[in-house]
Amino acid sequence: MTDLLELRNVSVFYGGRPALDSVNLHIPHGAQVAVVGPNGAGKSTLFKAMMGLAPLRTGEILIHGRPPSEYRDPVAYVPQREEVDWRFPVTVFDVVAMGRYGRGRWLKRLSVADRDGIHRSLERLNISDLAQRPIGELSGGQQQRVFLARALAQKPHVLLLDEPFTGVDISTREATLELLSSLKARSVTVLVSTHDLDLASGRFDQVVLLNRCLISAGSPDEVFTEKHLQAAFGGQMVVVNGKAIVVDQCCGAHGPVGGVDGCRCETCNWARGAREDEP
Ligand code: ADP
Ligand code: MG
Repeated sequence: MTDLLELRNVSVFYGGRPALDSVNLHIPHGAQVAVVGPNGAGKSTLFKAMMGLAPLRTGEILIHGRPPSEYRDPVAYVPQREEVDWRFPVTVFDVVAMGRYGRGRWLKRLSVADRDGIHRSLERLNISDLAQRPIGELSGGQQQRVFLARALAQKPHVLLLDEPFTGVDISTREATLELLSSLKARSVTVLVSTHDLDLASGRFDQVVLLNRCLISAGSPDEVFTEKHLQAAFGGQMVVVNGKAIVVDQCCGAHGPVGGVDGCRCETCNWARGAREDEP
């Protein structure tokens, strides 16, 4: 498999603090990748950076060798639920139709092929009967399906799903997993952020474990070692491969009291600085 996505030394800062720090990553074409890490680890920031929606402090992101703004094939992005203004007065059909406009084609009229594509996407997610309903009136699971249908209507080469399994019913979860299987058959490259480490381990080719820095990336077996889990989730309980593990005391890598020995990344430098500043 050739690389589709490459991050070189990517850092994103908010208000002087790193949300992503010196991240280097290669994602092969057609891979299905789970992005995991605790709250605030920078998962959403990673997706926004890939969409060109978060400014990079350092580094570059390349999709097939081009920056996101110059990459011509569709990249579909389904944001985390909390980041969407559900009061926006549009119908389900309108939201899915947005998937057909593409960059800079807002004034274009929908063709017959566009309308067919929209209806097929609605059917695929089992929400054809909701087409004329305002998006704000739907349940969380239905809203998630609408956004998946929009992403599908884009015929994406790359799909980024931010926490699609959080706060949805079981049938939407299953519909999302089925969609991922069918996209795999079409070699669409997919990145999915999730809190479900069991799912990440069982259903994905690759895992990216983040805690502002990249802790580890590779096969689930390579990534889910005790050392890596400790660096990411120290002090919390996590469930991997059906087993609950309480990860020992945080190594302090990225909290206000640490800095990993030997790690010179900006987060660790910042954490060490904060520790030294303490009275
Ligand atoms: P995750 O998705 O893994 O929970 P995020 O990428 O949302 O993490 O956030 C990473 C860090 O960046 C958090 O500390 C968060 O508070 C901060 N952050 C995210 N977005 C913003 C923003 N727009 N302004 C300021 N801080 C932000
Ligand atoms: Mg997030």
